[in-house]
Amino acid sequence: MDLGLRDKVALITGGTVGIGLAIAEGLAAEGSNLVLVGRNKQRAQDEAARVADKFGVIAMAIAADVATAEGCDAVIKGATKGFGGVDILINNAGTGSNETIAEADDAKWQYYWDLHVMAAVRLARGLVPSMKKRGGGVVLHNASICAVQPLWYEPIYNTTKAALMMFSKTLANEVVGDNIRVNTVNPGLVLTPDWIKTAKQIAGEDGWEAHLQGVANEAGGMKRFATPEELANFFVFMCSDKASYSTGSTYFVDGGWLKTV
Ligand code: NDP
Repeated sequence: MDLGLRDKVALITGGTVGIGLAIAEGLAAEGSNLVLVGRNKQRAQDEAARVADKFGVIAMAIAADVATAEGCDAVIKGATKGFGGVDILINNAGTGSNETIAEADDAKWQYYWDLHVMAAVRLARGLVPSMKKRGGGVVLHNASICAVQPLWYEPIYNTTKAALMMFSKTLANEVVGDNIRVNTVNPGLVLTPDWIKTAKQIAGEDGWEAHLQGVANEAGGMKRFATPEELANFFVFMCSDKASYSTGSTYFVDGGWLKTV
């Protein structure tokens, strides 16, 4: 099935490892050119070069912290200079938190607000105009099942991801007349290197797999983690014209973990 993504320009924040990198590879396999964003410059450059070589596309690396206004400006300027803008924006950079509401200070709340919400706001403001010039585009937000089904140990993550979901809906309404589709994807458990690293820290070299299976069992549903590629397939479909009637929605890819309809 030709997804019509050849020669599109896709910018993926956090596109240098884990889910973002899998989405980047999925889009590159369809012929899209890429802008990969992460703070670690070496990793961004290495992955951009590797993906470009593997799939025969153009892949640009931008090292920037999207939790800051300056970092977002650098991303917008880089994409504009490199490609004259983008057709696809995937706001994926993010990370879990660990705190109680009683103990977390304002600075921590502010950091996650900037990373999960303001990055999406700033990049939309800077890059949606280029989509309008190109005649349309796609914006996807990678939130989390925690946006609607909170985990007790990460109230800041739950809250900022819920805000991201509402931002996505609101942006969708604002640009629906410009042929720009905006949606949120809420993943469940996705086996990224970070999960493995944390599991090894908790349970050691011999126990990390059992630890992760315990996490999956507790989630229920399919009782397993998704591979990053399983999630990336959904993102790639949502980027394509095959999803042409989908905007302003939130889609769960969680193996049945969500306990409500
Ligand atoms: P990883 O930790 O594996 O990767 C995170 C990516 O984001 C890296 O490329 C990292 O690069 C980049 N990044 C992090 N902070 C910043 C920043 N301030 N500025 C620019 N880039 C940044 O995460 P995952 O692949 O697991 O998760 C990706 C997204 O999916 C996140 O938003 C997460 O909340 C969400 N998610 C993940 C789930 C999972 O089970 N894995 C489940 C549900 C949602 P660098 O460190 O170089 O900056």
